[in-house]
Amino acid sequence: MAGMLYLVPTPIGNLGDISARCRETLAQADFIAAEDTRVTLKLLNHLELKKPLVSYYEHNKAASGGKILDRILAGETCALVSDAGSPAISDPGEDLVRQCAEAGVTVCAIPGPCAVITALSISGLPTGRFTFEGFLSTAKKSRREHLESLQAETRTMVFYEAPHKLLATLEDMSAAFGPGRRISLCRELTKLHEEVIRTTLEEAALRFREAPPKGEFVLVLEGATPAAAPAWTLEDAAARAQSLMAQGLPRKEAARQAAQESGLPKKAIYDATL
Ligand code: SAM
Repeated sequence: MAGMLYLVPTPIGNLGDISARCRETLAQADFIAAEDTRVTLKLLNHLELKKPLVSYYEHNKAASGGKILDRILAGETCALVSDAGSPAISDPGEDLVRQCAEAGVTVCAIPGPCAVITALSISGLPTGRFTFEGFLSTAKKSRREHLESLQAETRTMVFYEAPHKLLATLEDMSAAFGPGRRISLCRELTKLHEEVIRTTLEEAALRFREAPPKGEFVLVLEGATPAAAPAWTLEDAAARAQSLMAQGLPRKEAARQAAQESGLPKKAIYDATL
């Protein structure tokens, strides 16, 4: 009989957040698949558990996933963990879950620490409807395109971000959504220096230009005001771009600004001004 795959969330900072069920699952699994075995070994030492570990991370997941699946099909139970938080959420795991599901293996996800949910719940912004955007690309062009595609989004948006990219991201967000858009920057969640900065894009950028950000961040961004979103037609936006061009702005920049104000795609506006 086939074994099972358990997705085991681990603390995102505070070791006290490991649940009794997670501990028990790790203790009972035949082996643990870990993103970084050194990080997981520390956790296992803290829990006073000894278990065989195999490595499963972004760059070996194709080869390692097949071996893990074979062991599960042969009857073993695997607990999958990432370095912190919930496996498969901006972390390795998605492919292994799919492989297991396709092979008819039961997958059990244990609820627990997850940075996106922790940040959203503490953000002070609407939580009823939200979209999780994960990490933005490190490439400027794709990052901007990603943000521009969200200009008309009315739901709260959640992003993961590394501290060294935070300032550039805030500046790009300000260009895409306007400087006054509200944002909650959730920093070092569950850790000693946990902090939630509820501010605007403009003020956030100002703050981190003066003092570079440190620690781990989740960005929770207010959605567009629903009434404002559908007000512009493409003709309106093209006329706005033309008027900006008449004031001396290059076509590309005029289209970008009109796109920002209207929430319509930059390329469509650009083309409409030709
Ligand atoms: N799978 C994990 C989860 O569900 O929480 C997320 C892993 S992702 C590789 C790591 C990102 O999560 C960090 O860059 C940061 O954006 C966010 N993150 C993780 N722990 C955090 C914490 N304690 N405080 C704030 N953000 C955190």
